[in-house]
Amino acid sequence: MIITNARVYTQDKNRPWAEAFAVEDGKFACVGTNEEVAKWAEENSSGDPGQEKVTDLNGRFVMPGIIDSHAHIAMSVFLGGDDDEGSMPMYDCKSKAEVLEKLKAHVKKHPFRLFYAMFYGKVEIMAGDPITRDDLDKIVRLRPVILMEEECHSAILNSAALRYFGVSEDSQDIAPGLSRYDRDEDGRLTGMITEMTLVPILTIDTPSERQLRLGIIKLISHLISRGVTTIFDAGNMTEEDLIFRTFKEMDEEGKIPVRMFMSHMLWHPDMVDGAIERLKQYKAEYETDNIRFDTMKMMFDGTQRIHTAAMVEPYADTGTCGGTLISEEKLLEFMRGLNHEGIDFHLHTVGEAAMRKVMNCVESLRKEGQTGEGEEFRITVTCAHDEVLRPEDINRFRELGIVANFTPSWNGGNCGSEPENMQKLLGPERGLRTLQSRTVFDTGAVVSFSSDEVELHRMDHWSPFWGMEVGMTRQDPDMSADGQKNGKTAPVYPPEGERLTLEQLIEGYTLNGARQLGIDNRVGSIEAGKDADYLVLSENLFEIDPYHLHEVVPERVYIKGKLQSIR
Ligand SMILES: [Zn+2]
Repeated sequence: MIITNARVYTQDKNRPWAEAFAVEDGKFACVGTNEEVAKWAEENSSGDPGQEKVTDLNGRFVMPGIIDSHAHIAMSVFLGGDDDEGSMPMYDCKSKAEVLEKLKAHVKKHPFRLFYAMFYGKVEIMAGDPITRDDLDKIVRLRPVILMEEECHSAILNSAALRYFGVSEDSQDIAPGLSRYDRDEDGRLTGMITEMTLVPILTIDTPSERQLRLGIIKLISHLISRGVTTIFDAGNMTEEDLIFRTFKEMDEEGKIPVRMFMSHMLWHPDMVDGAIERLKQYKAEYETDNIRFDTMKMMFDGTQRIHTAAMVEPYADTGTCGGTLISEEKLLEFMRGLNHEGIDFHLHTVGEAAMRKVMNCVESLRKEGQTGEGEEFRITVTCAHDEVLRPEDINRFRELGIVANFTPSWNGGNCGSEPENMQKLLGPERGLRTLQSRTVFDTGAVVSFSSDEVELHRMDHWSPFWGMEVGMTRQDPDMSADGQKNGKTAPVYPPEGERLTLEQLIEGYTLNGARQLGIDNRVGSIEAGKDADYLVLSENLFEIDPYHLHEVVPERVYIKGKLQSIR
């Protein structure tokens, strides 16, 4: 297949733009000017005139396939927060009263549910007047109620739900500062639970295998329709065997057209010992050509909004520092084991202390490797989220070769992080310098970008082009003053200097994602010899108004030279 007259943004440093390319056996065979590719075709012609197909793209824009380097496919199906009739409706309530109102209406509408679960919105709406189990008990006494906050890092349970999940007044917190059962001044459970104490909740309504398959197809098709050709799945809290088996079967049936990179997720300190063996078992049992198991995932800290992200300098409002899943010493030992096995490591790190501990470990292991005291350090370590970073640690991503993974759709401040709220949590200065992906990028570190979305009612956020717009503008179309998704009218999330360039965003969504996954010799750019993963767009991303980027949908998506059906 020969493509001519295109504006090809190659992501190849030696030839950033091309006009034409040839695809043979699913790979780019030649990339260059119209003349160069025509010459190649002539020299490599089989002589059979029906053999080659020439497509004149009439000046259309072509770019490499997108790599979504931190997504949650099956976990989103498990959460199933799809619609009002589903098992877990989603609301964005503005006050405690509204939450209780919505719950009452939901219960009235579905009087015979075995349990009631809903997303209520942002945790900040309860500031000063938290919802407690007692509030919920007044509405539903006997059956479990679960109110999940939108980030999925905390929930409020009624007394029946606490009983259902086996939480009692003498239950112990799982990890100090991180995963806890909140208590009032008298030591009584309030119903608020955080981080991995939430995991049992995910099992209350496990989807059937049919629902799981349908959900996976729906999400993967959606991502492909938005230009995604490779996915790193950042993990599942429960039912890993069921999920991995389903993926394998679906791949054997030809239903997984994207490359999938899976991970084994560690969310409890007790899971760390034996984790490497576990991942090796998954690999042996479920790996296919298309579905790989090369990465360990760890929920290393929490989120700043409920004070569970690990800080070096305490939170301004509580004076606490959050916590990490395991200590730095234990992390070092674990990482040494991963390095020995050649298993890459992807960590959820939101707070400054979480990143610093990871950096310290990588530094020690690199030193050990260099001095010959230990093995050569050869694995890829990725810190994901990286929301609050110590200024003195910013250069360490590049120095230590740690990949920084960010989700640009958060850069507009729509993760509940209005500047005032961030300042309340982090103090006046630190609260205004979060999500510094530009600064990290400019140090020369490998920065990759992702969707990290789990909510099915916000499918537009699953688009890398949405991410590109918010990454470039730090303004969120969802927060526009005119309610018309016109990002221009939305507030700019500070610091304004952290706006990324389009070049950086494309690199982070393509080549750097490939670097994170260790496949940059095969995908991530349009270069001869690489897999022919590419997108054809009717708009040139460099010419359109950045405030329209979120509306971009590729006309055509190719994986290994094969046109994908994107209906
Ligand atoms: Zn995630």
